[in-house]
Amino acid sequence: MSSSMYDVAIIGGGPAGSTAAALLARAGRRVIVFEREKFPRFHIGESLLPFSMKAFTRLDLHEKILRAGFLKKYGGEIMGACSDTGTKFYFKDGYRSQTDHAYQVTRGDFDKLLLDHAAESGAEVHEETLVTRVPFTVDEAMLFWKGVRSDEVGLARCADRTSQRDVPTREDEIRARYVIDASGRTSLLGRQFKIKKNYEHLQKLSIFAHYDGVWRAEGIDGTLTVLLRAVDRWFWLIPLTVERTSVGVVLDSETFRKSKLSAEDFLEQALAEQPTIAKRMTNARRVSKVYVEADFSYRSKRLYGDRWLLAGDAAGFIDPIFSSGVFLAVFSGERCADALNEVLDHPRKAKQLFAQYERSVNRAMDVYLRFVDAWYTKEFIEVFLAPRNVLGLAPAVNAVLGGNVGNSFPIRWRMWVFYFLVWLQRRYPIAPKLTLMPKKEASAASAQPVGVPN
Ligand SMILES: Cc1cc2nc3c(=O)[nH]c(=O)nc-3n(C[C@H](O)[C@H](O)[C@H](O)COP(=O)(O)OP(=O)(O)OC[C@H]3O[C@@H](n4cnc5c(N)ncnc54)[C@H](O)[C@@H]3O)c2cc1C
Repeated sequence: MSSSMYDVAIIGGGPAGSTAAALLARAGRRVIVFEREKFPRFHIGESLLPFSMKAFTRLDLHEKILRAGFLKKYGGEIMGACSDTGTKFYFKDGYRSQTDHAYQVTRGDFDKLLLDHAAESGAEVHEETLVTRVPFTVDEAMLFWKGVRSDEVGLARCADRTSQRDVPTREDEIRARYVIDASGRTSLLGRQFKIKKNYEHLQKLSIFAHYDGVWRAEGIDGTLTVLLRAVDRWFWLIPLTVERTSVGVVLDSETFRKSKLSAEDFLEQALAEQPTIAKRMTNARRVSKVYVEADFSYRSKRLYGDRWLLAGDAAGFIDPIFSSGVFLAVFSGERCADALNEVLDHPRKAKQLFAQYERSVNRAMDVYLRFVDAWYTKEFIEVFLAPRNVLGLAPAVNAVLGGNVGNSFPIRWRMWVFYFLVWLQRRYPIAPKLTLMPKKEASAASAQPVGVPN
């Protein structure tokens, strides 16, 4: 690491940090990335959205992604716990769709691909390097860092929550003109400046694992992300490879705490209670440990300062129901790289460009936040599961599910109408009411081993 000045220092080598690093390095900027872990490392967030494909084109990533052999994902299926069938949507049918697929990825491999790509693009990447604090002066930022071995990362993670000084290693520092905090939910600068604001109604918890042998439909339907909505929780089934599937449940953290069950027992029980899932998992075998992750949604009150920008989860985290996280990380990584590239040449434009950046990221997060809030009402699922293609609503909702967070009026007014229908459903039902409770007879049937679902 050099003692001279970097143009941009990036904290975190996940999708947000790697995207920004690759773009800035390709623009000829002197970029350094600090990543506390050694890649590949496990990470949740495995289902991507098609609107990231444009950024992958810009980054010249498609060939590498194809070579890595990630599963193409053609859409999704949303189900209620009280019925065997759901509503499928295919990205090709989205309003003005530009691509028919995204990818399902094992994040360890995907994130390594992105980070290596940033290094090949010219960014200086340091893994197993933890940034501890970032004091700023008017002209520059100092980043204090220290090496952490992979086996110390757990300790370093704890240190995020308490005091970084607990990790007994020597600190060094580098200097940079600007900093991108892409440290994910650690949100290093968000904590440093105390600007993280939780959404109290979205204090969720996720419990998940990988399984082999989960039943899948034939053809492209076997690539869809399946979401199943029950009364007080929702489940995901994400096909990762030909054999492997990611399966998880999201619920209020309080519900899990009160159950007093271990994560393993809770997950097993929750899956067994859902006949649609239990049938698909008749021949499934768990091949990973059971992970538990707090899933608390939050947003930073500010996404920039004079010498810093927040990107990806460091800017905000929205409940993962619609798989928007990596999309928002790549989107914000790309936008903040573009803003910084211009500001490095024209520092006077900083305020205007950073404010534009903040607006565009906040707007994108607002689109998903509104969607997520609606998802947790029963009426949303009732309307969603009784689709009528009037006024072109379905392609518009489909486009947003694919990552179209643009400000286009044809999508905006249709989303207003969609939310109006969800509101109407509460007062004057326009779609069949659902219980979201598993059917009793189906529950009994699921106790018998069955081959495949109908
Ligand atoms: C249960 C759950 C399910 C999800 N499912 C999906 C999904 O299906 N699809 C989807 O798109 N998204 C999903 N997400 C969200 C997704 O995981 C994130 O939005 C995404 O990883 C954000 O990328 P990022 O680059 O901002 O942060 P991250 O990917 O978290 O990367 C941040 C990096 O910063 C590093 N770091 C942190 N602190 C420091 C430090 N002090 N110094 C150096 N390095 C540091 C970390 O090690 C990490 O590698 C899910 C999230 C959860 C919790």
